[in-house]
Amino acid sequence: ALPDLDADARVRADDRSHVFHSWSAQALIDPLPVAAGEGATFWDYAGNAYLDFSSQLVNLNLGHQHPDLVEAIQRQAGRLATIQPSMASDVRGELARRIADVAPDGFEKVFFTNGGADANENAVRMARAVTGRRKVLSAYRSYHGNTTTAISLTGDPRRWANEPGDGSVAHFFGPYPYRSAFHATTPEEESQRALEHLEQVIVLEGASTIAAIVLETIVGTNGVLVPPAGYLAGVRALCDKYGIVWIADEVMVGFGRVGEWFAFQAFDVAPDLITFAKGVNSGYVPLGGVVISERIAAHFDTVSFPGGLTYSGHPLACAVGVATFEVFERDGILERVRDLGKRVVEPHLRDMASRHPSVGDIRGMGLFWAIELVRDRGTREPLVPFNASGADAAPVTAVAAACKRGGVWPFTHFNRVHVAPPLVISEDDLGRGLDVIDGALDEADAALA
Ligand code: PLP
Repeated sequence: ALPDLDADARVRADDRSHVFHSWSAQALIDPLPVAAGEGATFWDYAGNAYLDFSSQLVNLNLGHQHPDLVEAIQRQAGRLATIQPSMASDVRGELARRIADVAPDGFEKVFFTNGGADANENAVRMARAVTGRRKVLSAYRSYHGNTTTAISLTGDPRRWANEPGDGSVAHFFGPYPYRSAFHATTPEEESQRALEHLEQVIVLEGASTIAAIVLETIVGTNGVLVPPAGYLAGVRALCDKYGIVWIADEVMVGFGRVGEWFAFQAFDVAPDLITFAKGVNSGYVPLGGVVISERIAAHFDTVSFPGGLTYSGHPLACAVGVATFEVFERDGILERVRDLGKRVVEPHLRDMASRHPSVGDIRGMGLFWAIELVRDRGTREPLVPFNASGADAAPVTAVAAACKRGGVWPFTHFNRVHVAPPLVISEDDLGRGLDVIDGALDEADAALA
């Protein structure tokens, strides 16, 4: 893309004067005007190219301007641009069928929403209706969306300013082997103690009051926390024992991020409700939803479901979803992600960890990894504090700035750098981006001195 500084100034001026941005003090931000994107790369108006190692908000799984996805929107817009949810639509039905086909046996129905938060909101609504119970448990170190129940489920600082929200939510500690809340020293111990803790929370909160447990299958923004072996099977068993609905939040990790349609499929377990969004159509048109297991779906055969959205199953969004399935299958995206994760990303990160004293831990799966930065590998003191911002966050801000100077748009959160590029990134670009992050970690090392 050619530099166009007039356009840059114009876009910036309109944005700064009139656009009210998410999660920000409006006067303290400086959003980058973006001119164009293609595949894993986007360009600003100054002509700088950035490899998108954040896939926007970890939703752009098939990259910018994928020709099949763009064409699907164009084709659908030319036929029927919108249709309300109580009528039947060909693309809505086809997408629901394709999602059911890749979900575990016993999942046949899909309720479509506009995104991830309202997917979780409606999954909880279903669990409450089916169980006749109200309370929901979720993990500290989680994000589930910004609507009332979803933000109340969230176990990170974004909840704090929204309290009190849904008063029927209680939090527990999930497994986090690197910073075990249970003084565990092995993944097996972590798994077992995290399950003992969860059972105690269930008993003390009153099993008969708990409708659902909502869990990110692999915790996303709060750390790429991959559950240790046995944990999810243990959650399944506890939910069965106490009649609780397990809602798997697959909003960030579903649709290929870790080389599976749904991340829980890597752990040989199945929840009762699956929530999705983001990767289902790479965010080309807003879309999310709930995949519903038969037992829960059957409840609503004769009882009316008390929820709905004007844009539930919007045909433009669903058409891109159908095209997403075609691309995944034709181009072997799931296999590609598993291969690149094991063969390229993991060894590269292990090598970085061996050379940079600021790297405390690396972890992940597929094309979803975290580099956790520490002041001291012995004490594991985080490089910047939990919820760091401003001057406190300086060492990580410096890493991010070095990435951007090197042409990589990074995902950073507190004391971590995540690696989450589009699943279509070329192997060359993947290696190049990792090299840039590698170099940028010198900034983190320098903060230890
Ligand atoms: N759940 C998870 C795990 C997420 O990562 C997100 C968004 O980042 C959400 C839910 C909320 O999705 P949305 O922003 O589409 O409402």
